[in-house]
Amino acid sequence: MKSCVGTTWCRYGVQDAVGFAIRLEQRYRGIRAPHKIKMAVSGCVRECAEAQCKDVGLVATENGYNLYVCGNGGATPRHADLFAVDLDEATALKYIDRFMIYYIRTADKLTRTAVWLEKMEGGLEHLRDVVINDSLGTCNELEEQMQYLVDTYKCEWKEVAKDPEKRKFFRQFVNTDETEPNIEIVDERGQSRPTDWPKDVVPISELRGVGGGEGEKKNDNVSSPPSLPLPQLQETVGAPSRARNGSALAQQPISQKTAAR
Ligand code: SF4
Repeated sequence: MKSCVGTTWCRYGVQDAVGFAIRLEQRYRGIRAPHKIKMAVSGCVRECAEAQCKDVGLVATENGYNLYVCGNGGATPRHADLFAVDLDEATALKYIDRFMIYYIRTADKLTRTAVWLEKMEGGLEHLRDVVINDSLGTCNELEEQMQYLVDTYKCEWKEVAKDPEKRKFFRQFVNTDETEPNIEIVDERGQSRPTDWPKDVVPISELRGVGGGEGEKKNDNVSSPPSLPLPQLQETVGAPSRARNGSALAQQPISQKTAAR
C-alpha cells in the first residue's frame, strides 16, 4: 500500500489519501492471492502515489475517488484501466472487495491482475459487468467471502512471537542447538549485515555435515548454500493460517459462472 500525503499535508489534496490508504491496508492485509497485490491512493490528479501502475489504484477527485485496476510496473509495465469514477469510500471498498475475490477465485497461480485481465474473455467490460452490474449474480457471495477473510485476520508474525513452540522453529540450525557465532559481519551504510556468499566455487566436501551427506550426488560445482528439503522447510515455517488463506477459499464451492473469463 502506498499513498501520498493527501489533504493532511498537501495544499493540492482534495481527499484524505492517507486515511483511506490506512483503511484499505487494514482491510486487505495478509490476504493470500495468486500473486502479490499492490495498491495506492493519491490525494489529487497529480498522482504522486502512482496509483495507475498498481493492481488497485485510487485517485482522489472533488467528488470522491476514481478507481483504477490491473496495472503493474516491473519488467512489463501496464497502465491501469479506469474502472469507475467519483466513488465514495464505501462504494469503492465494495467494488474492491468483489474485484479481489473474483481475482483470487479465478486467476491462475502466479498471475498478476494485469495478465489476468488481458486473458479474460470480454476484458474490462466483462469485469465491470461482474463487479458493478452483478452480471453473474455472485456479488453477494464475493462480498461475503471478503468479509470472512477480514473478520478472521490474524497477524501470523504476532502469533509466532507469542508462541514459544512456534518460536523454536526460528533457530539457526534445525538439527542442533549449537549456534554459529562466527558469521562474518560487514558494515554497510552504517549498518551491519552478513557478508556476501563467496563468488568462488565451494567444493561439496566443504558442505558436508550441513547438507552434503554421503548419500548426496557429488557435484563439485555447487556454490549455493545448502537447502532444506521442502517438507522440512514447511515444518519450520508452520502451516499457513487458514484464517487468512485466500487459497483456502479455492477449496470452497463457488458458482461455475464465476470461472468464466
Ligand atoms: S497527489 Fe496531489 S495531494 Fe497527493 S502529494 Fe501529490 S499533489 Fe499533493
